[in-house]
Amino acid sequence: MGRSPTVTCVHTSATSAELLDHLRTALGQDGVITDPDVLPGYQRDMMPLAPYGTPLAVVLPRSTEQVQAVVRACARHRVPIVPRGAGSGLSGAANAVDGCVVLVTTRMNAIVEVDPDNRLAVVEPGVVNLDLRDAVEKHGLFYPPDPSSYDWCTIGGNLSTNAGGLCCVKYGVTTDSVLGMRVVLADGEVLDTGRRTVKGVAGYDLTKLFVGSEGTLGVITRATLALRPLPQAPGTLVAAFGSTGAAGAAVARVVREGLVPSLMEIMDATSIQAVEAHLKTELGAGRGSAALLLCQSDSGGEAARRELAAIERICADAGATLAHTTFDAAEGAMLLTARRAVLTALETYGAWMTDDVCVPRTKITELIAGCARISDEVGLRVAVVGHAGDGNMHPTIVYDPTSTDEFDRATRAFNDILELGLALGGTITGEHGVGKIKRDWLAREIGPVGLRAHRAIKAALDPDNLFNPGSMFTMD
Ligand SMILES: Cc1cc2nc3c(=O)[nH]c(=O)nc-3n(C[C@H](O)[C@H](O)[C@H](O)COP(=O)(O)OP(=O)(O)OC[C@H]3O[C@@H](n4cnc5c(N)ncnc54)[C@H](O)[C@@H]3O)c2cc1C
Repeated sequence: MGRSPTVTCVHTSATSAELLDHLRTALGQDGVITDPDVLPGYQRDMMPLAPYGTPLAVVLPRSTEQVQAVVRACARHRVPIVPRGAGSGLSGAANAVDGCVVLVTTRMNAIVEVDPDNRLAVVEPGVVNLDLRDAVEKHGLFYPPDPSSYDWCTIGGNLSTNAGGLCCVKYGVTTDSVLGMRVVLADGEVLDTGRRTVKGVAGYDLTKLFVGSEGTLGVITRATLALRPLPQAPGTLVAAFGSTGAAGAAVARVVREGLVPSLMEIMDATSIQAVEAHLKTELGAGRGSAALLLCQSDSGGEAARRELAAIERICADAGATLAHTTFDAAEGAMLLTARRAVLTALETYGAWMTDDVCVPRTKITELIAGCARISDEVGLRVAVVGHAGDGNMHPTIVYDPTSTDEFDRATRAFNDILELGLALGGTITGEHGVGKIKRDWLAREIGPVGLRAHRAIKAALDPDNLFNPGSMFTMD
């Protein structure tokens, strides 16, 4: 499982020693790790399928200037750089390639500024998502992007993967909350993109280019983020359905009627059963539920009551066997905990690998049915949980990590689900990114012209293929 992709890395042991000297001079001894016992902790992210290599060193810069020094030294020695935040990624995008320098941003974790009057924050890339959310909440403000890993993933990682989360249905993905960025380019120069103003159309939108670029174009060292007023405490609705078709029909009607909950999640029967067993609670599966919908409204007061009442009516019309709305914060949090517990619950059966296809919201039912078929074909448990409000589904395959046969069957299921997602008019990734596992799939989704445009952008900004080579796509 530890295969590493080919990289254009031409250094010898003499040049490696010289590079390490340069890095230690720039960052200090404690900023450069070469201990073979420590390096494995930085070799890979959380996706078991993705190849990874062995880095020459891990560096932990504290400032943009130190990042510039690392980039210049690596460029001179033609040693690739793999930027890394917390390593919580699910595509192998932060996985090391042989002989690279892994540039970890966790020491650059300052919240530089919170400006309540202009509703923005300026942060370094190593700030943990939850720390930013907590910090701005003290000012009555809200940073929406909320990946489920929010208590340990970094803003730099979120920007680079264009991370989503549970609240995307109302507030969009990371790119919708970014105003500007500071990026160290392949020649060590600093590029400032974007603005601090609400509007601004000067030049190409380079900010959006770097969002989702998965560390292939430069190192983000600072970001200016747009904040919103803190929403009201949400009301929560849970609805159980006897068939996924009924749940899918309810989702489609919520969308069609223009209702915009702040969260709309779906769990299939396998997810429900796993969570019930894990949390020792009753979510509706005992009554034969095939799917659960979980919705929240943070519109506050009467508006939230009206919104959830309308959704509850739609669920009932679609044949829900149970629909319950609560404005009790503890009960709402308990229901959300059940949704967030799916992956942990599945771990009680084995290791998991999770897909990230996004399909038109009218196709969610077909996707869930297709996953059940794939589960039967490969003989492995596949649980589907996802962001029903935007069609981004996470079919999660459970396998025995000690069995090569099960790993191979899980890999087959993973790819069959990507195939299914594309066949349903969807995309191979709604939020986790391409990384090192979906390169071929990206080429397929965007086609030869799209790939040529990607390569042209990469060649213009990173002509020596310094940053994260072999991730997302190859240059040949
Ligand atoms: C349990 C679990 C739940 C998850 N739930 C969600 C979810 O709901 N939504 C979602 O979108 N994702 C989710 N993820 C995936 C992951 O947490 C996100 O992709 C997250 O944005 C990665 O952040 P990170 O700091 O861990 O980045 P890493 O994994 O370290 O890196 C991710 C990518 O960003 C690049 N990168 C990191 N920092 C920089 C930088 N400063 N400059 C340039 N490139 C950089 C890396 O090279 C790599 O390509 C989940 C993961 C887990 C394990």
